[in-house]
Amino acid sequence: MTKSTPIAHCPECGGQFTAEETCADRYHTCLALEYTDPAYYGPVHHLTVLAYMLQHPSRLSANGWQAMRNLLDRFLSEDISPTRMRQLLQHQVKNKSFSMVKGEPAVQPTWVWSKTVMDVRLADAGTYCADVHAWAEAVHHDIQQADLTGFLQKKS
Ligand SMILES: [Zn+2]
Repeated sequence: MTKSTPIAHCPECGGQFTAEETCADRYHTCLALEYTDPAYYGPVHHLTVLAYMLQHPSRLSANGWQAMRNLLDRFLSEDISPTRMRQLLQHQVKNKSFSMVKGEPAVQPTWVWSKTVMDVRLADAGTYCADVHAWAEAVHHDIQQADLTGFLQKKS
């Protein structure tokens, strides 16, 4: 194995890119694993999507970001089945009066994220699901801290 040299950080999530991989590459590898092996990698799919999107707000509207934040809050605080998560996500996207991507852009976080998709290890499904959970919890925690310091109320 060649040693990967860090070459840059993602301007949004702060994840450290390697010579071979950016955070977008890692995200797409995660999605591919979740789709091809839904029984073992798939159960955390919704957390992967929410954590990644929340850390890359340039893709979202302000309302879309808040909606994803609320979903993440719900998924982590309630013991919710992947099927129910999928329904909620679809419902959120379809039946909202606002667009997830159009409209007022989401606030760009200035805080440092404690974990990014680059911290998720892909080696086996058990490790993978645990890492995605830890990543989603960290994203949730970082956002709560930002809320406590008033960052998210600044612009509303
Ligand atoms: Zn990134």
